[in-house]
Amino acid sequence: MKRIGVFTSGGDSPGMNAAVRAVVRTCFYNNVQVFGIYEGYKGLIEGNIKELQSSDVSNIIQRGGTILKSARCKEFHLTEGRQKAFENIQRFELDGIVAIGGDGTFTGASIFNKEHNIPFIGIPGTIDNDLYGTDNCIGYDTALNTVIEAVDKIRDTASSHNRLFLVEVMGRDAGFIALRSGIGVGAEAILIPETQTYINELVDKLESGKKKHKQSMIVIVAEGDDAGNAHEIAEKLKGKCPAYDTRVTVLGHIQRGGSPSAADRVLASHLGYAAVNALLAGKTNVMVGIVNKEVAYTPFEKAIKHHREINKNLLELAEVLSC
Ligand code: ATP
Repeated sequence: MKRIGVFTSGGDSPGMNAAVRAVVRTCFYNNVQVFGIYEGYKGLIEGNIKELQSSDVSNIIQRGGTILKSARCKEFHLTEGRQKAFENIQRFELDGIVAIGGDGTFTGASIFNKEHNIPFIGIPGTIDNDLYGTDNCIGYDTALNTVIEAVDKIRDTASSHNRLFLVEVMGRDAGFIALRSGIGVGAEAILIPETQTYINELVDKLESGKKKHKQSMIVIVAEGDDAGNAHEIAEKLKGKCPAYDTRVTVLGHIQRGGSPSAADRVLASHLGYAAVNALLAGKTNVMVGIVNKEVAYTPFEKAIKHHREINKNLLELAEVLSC
């Protein structure tokens, strides 16, 4: 293995740069040339590929976003698009690829691998934390801290005005961000796609908070909750919680940005290093992760199909502590 390509794909997440840096530096250490593929699969199809030097990744470990840019690329869904990508891999004589992204990125890699025999290693980079085969994905810890910092500020104003805030966080299919951040901010209720939301039960909970003289109420809503997003739930609560003035805040894309936390920098560095070593050891079609502090290799198909379960103990804990 003499020439390795690296790209970031799908939604960006804080710590992707730290992973790119680790890939580049580990390649240099092993006398392997490394090439940055810009904008994920789009760059692979368009041949937007440049050799990287060690100095190209100086001073990026602390930066959010991704210097390699990211994109959602429809053309890679098509056989012709993947054929163009393959031709560029051949043109640049890449012996292996490190793909940093989420479940869509690894779905694409898995399909590509069945058509063209190019070694691929995945690094889990998504704030959704919904991949099987790693305790944490890169960016999740930073996103949690961003949510907690924002909701702490909302709590101050909520307490001053006796307000109920519905705070919407990212999570179309998974409630990991909502559950952990909800516990971290002491939310009165946490609504996630994995559990059924009953509006009447929510109203009872909010009413009982009032009886206990709570001055503010924070409800964390994962955007994909079965009862709707935060605005839709606010609509359903209309007239049912007269004790509180209700407001909605959608945190949106601030959850994706920002300087990565210490945990994300270390995780990304570890996974970047492990990914290159995996390619050099002849592994392919697997995602590298950290499970119980050890490097773990999970086939792409398992990482994307075995959906992570929400931790039921944490659900119960959140319920008990919010009473
Ligand atoms: P995030 O979890 O942050 O959204 P992701 O990797 O899941 O990240 P996606 O946009 O779902 O982000 O996927 C990234 C890219 O992977 C897509 O833009 C597309 O190019 C490719 N991809 C996804 N699914 C497929 C598929 N079924 N076939 C081929 N390529 C795919």
